[in-house]
This record gives sequence, structure tokens and C-alpha cells, in this order.
Amino acid sequence: MANPESSVWFGKSVAPGSSVNVELQITESYSGRDISIPIRVIRGIDSGPSVFVTGALHGDELNGTGAIRSLIADPEFVLQRGTVIMVPVLNVLGFERHSRYLPDRRDLNRCFPGNASGSMATRMAKVIFDAIVRECDFGIDLHTAAVRRTNYPNIRTDFKNTECMRIAQAFGAGVILDGKGPKGSFRREATAVGCPTVVVEGGEVWKVEPSVVDCMTRGIVNVLKELDMMDGEPEIPDNQVRIRTTKWVRAERGGFLDLHVGPGSTVVTGQPMATNSSLVHEDQNRLEAPFDGIVIGMSTLPAVQPGEPVFHLGKLSSSKTAARVERNTQADDMQRMAQEHLSTNVQVVDPVGDVESAETPED
Ligand SMILES: [Zn+2]
Repeated sequence: MANPESSVWFGKSVAPGSSVNVELQITESYSGRDISIPIRVIRGIDSGPSVFVTGALHGDELNGTGAIRSLIADPEFVLQRGTVIMVPVLNVLGFERHSRYLPDRRDLNRCFPGNASGSMATRMAKVIFDAIVRECDFGIDLHTAAVRRTNYPNIRTDFKNTECMRIAQAFGAGVILDGKGPKGSFRREATAVGCPTVVVEGGEVWKVEPSVVDCMTRGIVNVLKELDMMDGEPEIPDNQVRIRTTKWVRAERGGFLDLHVGPGSTVVTGQPMATNSSLVHEDQNRLEAPFDGIVIGMSTLPAVQPGEPVFHLGKLSSSKTAARVERNTQADDMQRMAQEHLSTNVQVVDPVGDVESAETPED
């Protein structure tokens, strides 16, 4: 274990069975003040692994912040073994400006493991990486879709890494996507130095959405149970679907979209996903599903130009699999509620009449 019996975290002593609020200084302001990240360290009575849970690495992505804060405030959240490092807002400088990025417009999530003599962003990344990642055995990094989009709750991890898969499956998001993550991303670089880390995606920026928070808090507790840090069995939905291929379905025409599917909807090849028309409802074309799949992310902005991404579709092996995924979603309260709640943020209507397909003919 990275930090098996440590009682000192971020310079403060943390007794077994206690929780302590600490600060990790990451940089200094123009006026020379310390800028630090508020962190809650929760220690179980007995020894065990150390796990970090981070929110708002992109400073406008607040569902993870909401999930972490609700666990911190929950009297029933009791850790028996090991240590949990709760970081409600990792990118405090972005958070202060309601922004995904740092003030120098860098993406902190491409700057790990950092550099002590590099840019402001890579120096901050180095402090975070050394103080948190190198002291932990596992990590959970909570995100949302980028601005003007929403994500159906899903977990992203490297299928080839068995420890990453272990915590991804225990999390129980229902949908697990394959991939190591971009170079310099927190989870990729953390996993590379022996701290298996997964990314959780759910909902939109600038909100704390109750159904997403429920999925995230259940998942965090599930992982802690899987690692024997909390008592009890994880609540894992049956038949989680693993997805290796995804594709953005893009607008072919400029116009306004009537959406026919919502976040978490399953589709079969050729199914109408959106109808594109002018503002006075003419010149329609239609976006159709290029394969059997599940909508893992989508635009919430109905006005589009050619080439703009509309649906992020995860590929399923067959229409039978799509039907099974739909049944499993309905059977799991958390996923069903997420599908219902997230769909209320976009107008979903049935397709009308026959229109030209938006698919570009092949050469
Ligand atoms: Zn993000």
C-alpha cells in the first residue's frame, strides 16, 4: 500500500476513526496569498488502502463536488478501514471563475504528472500528483460533460488493467467505456504510476443533479465496500455493459433539432435520433443511428451547424444487446432515475413523417 499506516496527511495528524479538514497549498495569487485546495481526510479505525475521490478537476463540473459533499455530510457514511481523501474541488482556480480551465486557459487534466519548474499549471499538477496520487492506492475522478452537453452516468477505464476493471465494475455505473484516457490526464498518469484510477462521467456543468449525485455516491460507497474499507456488499446492477467503440453522430445541416432520444436511450441501426429543420419547420433531414448503441452523451443545445456533435453513441454488439441494456436500466432504480431526470432537460418528441436521411452516401 502506498501509505499503509500513515497518520499524517498534508502535514496534519489524523487519528484512527477520525476525520480532519486539511489544505493543500498549490500556488500563490498575484497578491502573494497562498492558494490551497480544501480536503477532507477520513480515516477508518483499522488499517487498509488509501483512496482519493476528486471532483471539479474541470472547475465547472460540479456533480462530483455535490456527491463528495453529500458523503462528507452523511452521518451514515462510516469508514471502517483505510483512508479516504475527499477533494470536492481539485481545480480551485477554475472553480472560482466557473470555468473548466485554469486562468491561463490550460486544461489541468492534460498537465499530469506535472513539472516543478514548468508552467503554473504543470507546477500545480506536480503538487497535486505528489501529495495525493503518490500517497494513494486507488482513485475515483468525478466529471460531467463539457458545456452545452450532458452525459448519461458512465465509467471510463482501461479494460486491460485488472485493478481498474475491478473498481470500475464495483462502482456499478451500468455502462463502462474502454480507454486509458488522454496523455497527461489525471487518471491515465495516476494509473501509470500504480494508483489504478477510474473516471466517472455524469450530467452537465454548473449543476448538482440529484440523480447523478445518487449514482456517484452509490458508486463511491460500492468501491469502498469492494476494497473492504466499509462493511457490507456493494449494490451492483446486473449485467453492466462494456463498450469499446464510441462515435459522435454529427449534424449534417444547419438548423434546429427535434430530439427523438435522450441520455441513456438505446437505439438500433437506422433509428431516427433527431430531425433537423429550419426555424419555420422546413428543409428537414434526419440523424439516424449508425449502429445499435446507447446514448452516453448528447448536446443540450438544439441549434446546430454542419459537423457539430449531437449524440455520443456507444456501440452495442446487436439489437438484442440494446434491448437487454434497456431492460437492465429499467431494473436498476439509480439508472432508471438518471435516464428519466436527464431526459427532462431536453425536449424528446416522436419523429413525424418520412424525411431524407442525414447519412452521407459513400463514395
Ligand atoms: Zn471533465
